[in-house]
Amino acid sequence: MNYKLISGCALAFLLGANIAGAQTTPPATTPANAPAQGGRGGFRRPNIQPFTEDNVPATKYDYHDLWKPFMYTKNGDETRAADGQPGPKYWQNRADYALKARIDTAANEITGSEVLTYTNNSPNKLGFIWMQLDQNLFKLDSRGNKQVPLVSDSTRTNIVQASRNWGQGQVFDAGYKIKSVKIISMAKGSTTATETDAKYLINDTRMQIFLPTEIAANGGQLKLKIEFSFISPDYGSDRMGIILQGSARGQSKNGKIFQVAQWYPRMCVYDNLQGWNTLPYTGESEFYLEYGDFDINITAPAKDIVVCSGELLNAKDVYTPEQQKRWAQAAQSDKVVMIRSADEINQASSRPSGKSELTWHFAIHNARDASWGASAAFIVDAARINLPSGKKSMAISAYPVESGADPNAAATTAAATPGQRGGGFPAGGQWHHGTEMIKATIEYNSNKWFEYPYPAATGVAGKAGGMEYPGIVFCSLNGGWGVIDHEFGHTWFPMIVGSNERLYGWMDEGFNTFINTLSTAYADNGKYATGGRGGGGFGGNGPTLTPSERLAITWRAYTSPPLEPILSNPDNLKEANNGTLLYSKPSAGLVLLREQVLGPERFDFAFKTYINRWAFKHPSPDDFFRTMEAASGESLQWFWRGWFENTWRLDVAVRAVRYVNNDPSKGAIITIDNLEKMAMPVTLEIKTVSGKTDRVNFAAEIWERNVSWSFKYPSTEAIESVTYNPDGKLPDYNTSNNVWTAKK
Ligand SMILES: [Zn+2]
Repeated sequence: MNYKLISGCALAFLLGANIAGAQTTPPATTPANAPAQGGRGGFRRPNIQPFTEDNVPATKYDYHDLWKPFMYTKNGDETRAADGQPGPKYWQNRADYALKARIDTAANEITGSEVLTYTNNSPNKLGFIWMQLDQNLFKLDSRGNKQVPLVSDSTRTNIVQASRNWGQGQVFDAGYKIKSVKIISMAKGSTTATETDAKYLINDTRMQIFLPTEIAANGGQLKLKIEFSFISPDYGSDRMGIILQGSARGQSKNGKIFQVAQWYPRMCVYDNLQGWNTLPYTGESEFYLEYGDFDINITAPAKDIVVCSGELLNAKDVYTPEQQKRWAQAAQSDKVVMIRSADEINQASSRPSGKSELTWHFAIHNARDASWGASAAFIVDAARINLPSGKKSMAISAYPVESGADPNAAATTAAATPGQRGGGFPAGGQWHHGTEMIKATIEYNSNKWFEYPYPAATGVAGKAGGMEYPGIVFCSLNGGWGVIDHEFGHTWFPMIVGSNERLYGWMDEGFNTFINTLSTAYADNGKYATGGRGGGGFGGNGPTLTPSERLAITWRAYTSPPLEPILSNPDNLKEANNGTLLYSKPSAGLVLLREQVLGPERFDFAFKTYINRWAFKHPSPDDFFRTMEAASGESLQWFWRGWFENTWRLDVAVRAVRYVNNDPSKGAIITIDNLEKMAMPVTLEIKTVSGKTDRVNFAAEIWERNVSWSFKYPSTEAIESVTYNPDGKLPDYNTSNNVWTAKK
């Protein structure tokens, strides 16, 4: 999803970082006067004592807490190896779907049937299965609706129930109506399938189906047919819903816009970590889904345009001959080609004639879900996406007239709406540029990480502020680079790397927010990095703040004591902390790892290794941590522990500068202290009286057995100042003790 304020700000601050200027951190050198290791080769231990610190200030730092061994509670095994890759006996189950739906756009009702082919690759027999009935969230007595908290203004006079993650209290005939659940079987020797009613039990957003015969282990299959219907909520937990027809702000004058998702009963994942993953959908946390192939038929009023995950297989039935020509042209074009323009929306000739309803046929392969949109109000445009292998895909946008500022208006370099980068585009709705943005983010991320796997990438304007699905994303009526880049960034997390969002939201939103920093900086030669800071959220834009002061505000916010750890289940977090803990703080953690600890080359290799190893699979947090360590060759447990597992802070102080024999020309002894629970590499800027500046770096390992660190700096003249964290890129929350200056 999209977390407007904070993710926008996270982009802003992370982009301010000098990605190319990463340090390579040399190991702390052994001082020349350190005691030599005795005993070997006749060396004798020199008669010199270790340098000891005096006046060490009070500190919370305990190097054993941070650096102790054995963060991992389990050893690697044949399913998930110790180096983080899937083991030789890794398995996952598979769910293939044939889906049919009909939408009644007057009643907002979707009626469908599903044929599910479920393959059990686990080593265990399964006597029942679990499915997800997410529409049941919108029943007023659902578990999720009953958790929506109260919020109040500061006077506590205005107290209301509020959350982004529910149906906003809409009273309607919500939830699934399950008409039938049948097991399809083929009797031995018979060629005709028989359907028998299955016993099932529905509890909140889960359905348990009891099987008369267990599904065999190691490849056994089950075929089920389910008939269902539901009425779409207007607002579906910010992940689906309806833009109503009308001329008011937020409405669509040319027809309702449907964004349809969480719409068919979906298999729960059965894995070797949790067994059945049956946590209910309460709105806060997202999804965990099996991979498979989808064949989808959607029947809608003929005046509606339908867009869906995957490839449209019957354009000849649902677009006019002129529009089919334009599609063919778009497939060859790097420039955006208009398929149905704003002027054509109300022309009957812009839809095939003679039928009241049309059925749209789509297919998507190796996907964990499929979603769709429908509206008579859609403008549609498209362009070709060029992929690194030479394959092509299609960028497509579908949006109403309300979604576009005048495409001919003069470009402005001013920032657009908060959280959305300007990119030099007119403020306001930016869907006229949606397709070029889709093309830019997908081409960048395909080159950088892993090739985009789907035949089309469709952006749909509508009710959801920003929500991702395989091959299709839903964004607000405004659109814009920030949200389009973010939602299509989810192609890599969790559509390609299929982690468990319900338990590990940070592996989804955090990893995506991180790759957004690079696509925003570099896609289309940095075109979308212009337009000023996103504004809003942490850090602010106060003109009196230096970049490092602004960053310090961010570091304070990321580590402020009431925050839960990143390694929390999303359902276990205050909703107000989601933006920090699922999006910006884990993203900042990856930026720190990339720029301050490993350097871009080593980080990018390790991160890409993780993506490639776990593409279309189900990694756990340990699989990620272990892969990053194995592929970079570093033990990073201290870093995971400080930033991800705990809410520890970093506060390093520059305490003292002394001179050897009180003579600045003989060198200086500089002392720094670690005062909080975390550690990071160190960057110091040293300025001498003649105005020369120099920088000194240490790896984080100086803190592995020290709370204070003194080192000899080869000064030739008196030092005027020593500044720790001169660029603000280390997450030190307390800037008051970062600078030592000579007393004049
Ligand atoms: Zn997201």
